[in-house]
Amino acid sequence: MHELSIVASLFEIMEEKAQEKGSKRIIYVKLQVGKLSGVVPEFLISAFDMYKKDTIAHDAELEIEDVPLTIQCKTCKKTMILDDFVFICVDCGSRDLKTLTGKELFLEKMELEL
Ligand SMILES: [Zn+2]
Repeated sequence: MHELSIVASLFEIMEEKAQEKGSKRIIYVKLQVGKLSGVVPEFLISAFDMYKKDTIAHDAELEIEDVPLTIQCKTCKKTMILDDFVFICVDCGSRDLKTLTGKELFLEKMELEL
């Protein structure tokens, strides 16, 4: 499961940040997960729950913010959200698109007990 290795590196970052702040407990974690990130949020949540035992985040609450796939058409300059992965401008039919959001996969927020 690909999500497990993502969670492992996430925990490395989290623990490092907590250490910097001198905290021994993480209480809340918020992740941004883009539609194009290749990560399934449900798998990420179960990987997180599996991994957090015996870490400083063992009772941390995890929230995932889904980031939609937003594109801008390079031909007509329109910005739109794509619900499926058909990369065609709904307005002019152009395939020359730029991805604005949807590739995100990062730690947006973390709350520590100090
Ligand atoms: Zn267009």
